[in-house]
Amino acid sequence: MQHNRIIALAFAVAIVLIIITYNSDSQGNSTVNDLEKNTKNITENTNEKDTMNFEIKKSEDVWKDELSEEEYRILRGKGTERAFSGKYNLHFEGGEYLCAGCGNTIFDSDTKYSSHCGWPSFYDVDSSKVKTVEDRSYGMVRTEVVCAKCGGHLGHVFKDGPEPTGLRYCINSVSIKFKKDTTENK
Ligand code: FE
Repeated sequence: MQHNRIIALAFAVAIVLIIITYNSDSQGNSTVNDLEKNTKNITENTNEKDTMNFEIKKSEDVWKDELSEEEYRILRGKGTERAFSGKYNLHFEGGEYLCAGCGNTIFDSDTKYSSHCGWPSFYDVDSSKVKTVEDRSYGMVRTEVVCAKCGGHLGHVFKDGPEPTGLRYCINSVSIKFKKDTTENK
């Protein structure tokens, strides 16, 4: 009789342990899902740049010919313009920002905001317009943002932006060209 009670007790403890394990796993999964949802824009198009297939492909010599020295250094060499030096840092006219390398329309002025970080900042982008790449240069882990059409380096995206996305696309002025919206009501 005593033996049966011990078996029943052990069985009950096993059931409780299974329930606790299952619940903690569900909790973990839901946290991961929330995180994934919040960073959807960042991770959606993350790829290794080497395997990316860009519509516009040009030799380095052609890029050097077509771009200014500074554009080439930043767009093709992943350079960064000096903080607070870019012409669009404090530029807030209504319009669109095109890739300076290929003319692809990328950012809308409606999502531009004053982040005080020293570079033009946007809190959102059409995810088909850019691709993101893990960047481990300079001892940091950052997410590089490149033009989806030509692969030109635009800047980086950080998770300290305003709502509703919580993202800050920190972009070099040299990598983009502003096109004023000439339609009314803008
Ligand atoms: Fe481009």
